[in-house]
Amino acid sequence: MIELEGLTKRYGEKVAVNNLTFTVRPGIVTGFLGPNGAGKSTTMRMILGLDHPTAGDVRIDGTHYHRLKNPLTYIGALLEAKGVHPGRSAYNHLLCLAQSNGIPPRRVHEVLDAVGLTAVARKKAKGFSLGMGQRLGIAAALLGDPRILMFDEPVNGLDPEGIHWIRTLMKSLAAQGRTVFVSSHLMSEMALTADHLVVIGQGRLLADTSMADFIERNSRSYVRVRSPQRERLLDVLHGGGMTAAESGDGALEVDGSTAEAIGELAARHQLTLHELSPQQASLEEAFMQLTAESVEYHAHTGAGTPAPPQQQWGASWTKG
Ligand code: ADP
Ligand code: MG
Repeated sequence: MIELEGLTKRYGEKVAVNNLTFTVRPGIVTGFLGPNGAGKSTTMRMILGLDHPTAGDVRIDGTHYHRLKNPLTYIGALLEAKGVHPGRSAYNHLLCLAQSNGIPPRRVHEVLDAVGLTAVARKKAKGFSLGMGQRLGIAAALLGDPRILMFDEPVNGLDPEGIHWIRTLMKSLAAQGRTVFVSSHLMSEMALTADHLVVIGQGRLLADTSMADFIERNSRSYVRVRSPQRERLLDVLHGGGMTAAESGDGALEVDGSTAEAIGELAARHQLTLHELSPQQASLEEAFMQLTAESVEYHAHTGAGTPAPPQQQWGASWTKG
């Protein structure tokens, strides 16, 4: 379990991480989603004690990272900048880590095997491709057989086979009861991997929700309808118990009905339709709208007292 409590990081004027409170639980994959610059890597560095919080606190199974004896046996992490000595072989890199963390050397062979690097274990890391480097970083994370694993944008720059491999690995680690915390700036990636979702924008918490809930709230299906007799159509739709919202380009967005039912209703009232199309809002759109609102919100209120983030989230996403 990872617990963040009011975690904040300032770099001069810039607030990179702003009062984050949430818990990452075992047995599931928790996705950490936010646009580039949202504060994901900074948060992860603070979890590992590589950056000092300006305010707030973060604990790993109730303890600060620096207090953990042999920390690699509690939490393993793949961060963005990998600290592998280019002249060192994969085997030697892992062996050094093992020795400094009280981990038996046989684990080095096990993790090399697990990530598929056994054949190149004695080769120098500077000759590694991006994908091989990523696999070596993951081997290091797995070395101490930790109960908690953290991956910062692990699929960045990988080929489809590597991406598939990482997704499968994260799910199987969670299925073993481990805590898995993985960041991405891509909603589509999270939708395929995560059971739970923590969304941040400009350092602030925007959502902390199960993936299923997020999908249910945001994959709104509706029907777009355009008619030259718009006002009469609105009356007819309301009379038929349907709710219609203006789409901004003159069309109506009708919730809670089907194209067939709307078409038949319009025909019965002899209304002309210029468009009748079922729509599905994508999760990517939902994510963009959610984070766009965090930008807008910042611009309007400046440094004033912020509204609770959950309220923002609720207010924006229960209107449908
Ligand atoms: P993400 O990983 O979500 O892309 P980061 O945590 O890397 O975001 O960065 C969050 C913000 O903090 C960015 O605006 C970034 O420019 C800033 N930042 C990160 N590290 C530093 C640093 N060492 N000094 C100054 N600003 C930083
Ligand atoms: Mg980052």
